[in-house]
Amino acid sequence: MRCIYCNHTKLYTLNTKQLKCAKCKRKFSPKKLSQKQNIIKCFCENYTINQAKQKLGINYITIQKEYLSIRKYIASFLENQYNQNNVISYDEYIYLPQSKKRVKKNIFDAFNFLTFEYDTKIYNLMMPSLEKYKTQFLKEGVHEVYFKEFSKFMMFNKIAKIQKRDNKIQQFWIFFENEIKNEMNKIIPKLNFEEIKNMCNKFSKTIAEFEVNNKYLPKETSQFYNNLLDNIKNNDNSFYLALGSGSSYLSKTIYLLLWKHDKDLNLIKRLLPTKNDKRKNKFQKVNSYLEFPRTRVIETNKEIPTGWIKITAE
Ligand SMILES: [Zn+2]
Repeated sequence: MRCIYCNHTKLYTLNTKQLKCAKCKRKFSPKKLSQKQNIIKCFCENYTINQAKQKLGINYITIQKEYLSIRKYIASFLENQYNQNNVISYDEYIYLPQSKKRVKKNIFDAFNFLTFEYDTKIYNLMMPSLEKYKTQFLKEGVHEVYFKEFSKFMMFNKIAKIQKRDNKIQQFWIFFENEIKNEMNKIIPKLNFEEIKNMCNKFSKTIAEFEVNNKYLPKETSQFYNNLLDNIKNNDNSFYLALGSGSSYLSKTIYLLLWKHDKDLNLIKRLLPTKNDKRKNKFQKVNSYLEFPRTRVIETNKEIPTGWIKITAE
């Protein structure tokens, strides 16, 4: 073996099993080096981090770091290549994930690219995001204008795609859109409506069951939850969900899971501060799950809870 820094042939083995170069005096670990080589090999063979982790038995973070640095090397290598070549053609591209394309105000989530063709390769420059202006633009209602421009662009792009199929830039974006779609299909688990419905209703049933136990709730509120229980029991093509701030932490935390499984309330109490916080200190006096939360957001005319939605499959 030679020194990885100066290529010198004389190396000492240290107690730590590291090698030290006789000439430049620098140290390195052959074990780490071979680990690095294995990770690079996995990268070249298109392994994901998780696949590499399984194959090599090395932790995720180490592989992730190595993958990131390889990608940085590749990027700077290609950057150099690009700078040494002449641009043949360039085009503008707006990328918006498939799922966001239909809603007009999502236009501000789009990624804007300038795409250059050089020496049979593609170079992309990502333009600054419009996201930080999103709130302001939506307030001013200019998203209509932007969306119109975007639609025009998409139209133009479609025509362009038909007319110049052999264009490298078009080829790249068709490839990119397809790859992203494939990757997304891998990541997002396939759930059918029935499964989603059952999961949501199971959770909503627990909320309703908890709330009907509360003797302080207005009559109409209790009635609302009893109706909800009946509706869920009917098991038609619908599911119910509590959304938004009024739905309280019952719908956003594991509190009801602990209640349902009759877990020791001290589990929660131990995590909460005991002093200096008046609001949280209140919880220390609670002796049963049903005593908390004390407050509810309720629509004042009908005295029903807020934030409940019903979703029906057609
Ligand atoms: Zn050396």
